[in-house]
Amino acid sequence: MKIFCVGRNYVAHAQELGNDIPEEPIIFMKPKSALLQAHTPFYYPEFTNELHYECELVLRISKNGKYIQDRFASKYYDAISVGIDFTARDIQNDLKEKGLPWEKAKAWDNSAIVGKWVPIPSIKNKKDIKFHLHKNKELVQKGSSSLMLNNFDQIVSYISNYFSINIGDLIFTGTPAGVGECVVGDELEGYLEDERLFEMEVK
Ligand code: ZN
Repeated sequence: MKIFCVGRNYVAHAQELGNDIPEEPIIFMKPKSALLQAHTPFYYPEFTNELHYECELVLRISKNGKYIQDRFASKYYDAISVGIDFTARDIQNDLKEKGLPWEKAKAWDNSAIVGKWVPIPSIKNKKDIKFHLHKNKELVQKGSSSLMLNNFDQIVSYISNYFSINIGDLIFTGTPAGVGECVVGDELEGYLEDERLFEMEVK
């Protein structure tokens, strides 16, 4: 199982971190060991002093494929959820400055959180899926698939030009504006429309 992530897929988020708007999707990956398993506590990693949440829509791949065209891409995922792409922002900034790969900032154990799955056919309008994140019961991030620079089908197609995609792979589709810091004791809750799909605590 592979976890793909899209960077800077929302204009307002690219801007808040002072990044350019990319001309084509930015793709990075997390290993399987990055996925926080159910009923497992999430601990603040000891190697960072600036842990950021990035709330994102997550797709679940349901069919194996390679070189998938945009117009067929929707046949390759069957469920969606809301998740968090946890980022050690201090480490990422340091690596970016030196032009080094991001894994130490993004791909560590338990850095990927995924909520309950919602079947795609039950989604009324895939072009405008609203989602939001609460931190300690307050709204900190909200977005909609309508704001993505590359939509789901374009992302799946793009990734499949470089990597075979396989049943069970996950795609984090990028975070909207509003990323921010977490500290020990924070409670995070992710919502798709009005349904809460995960809740977790930073321990
Ligand atoms: Zn992200």
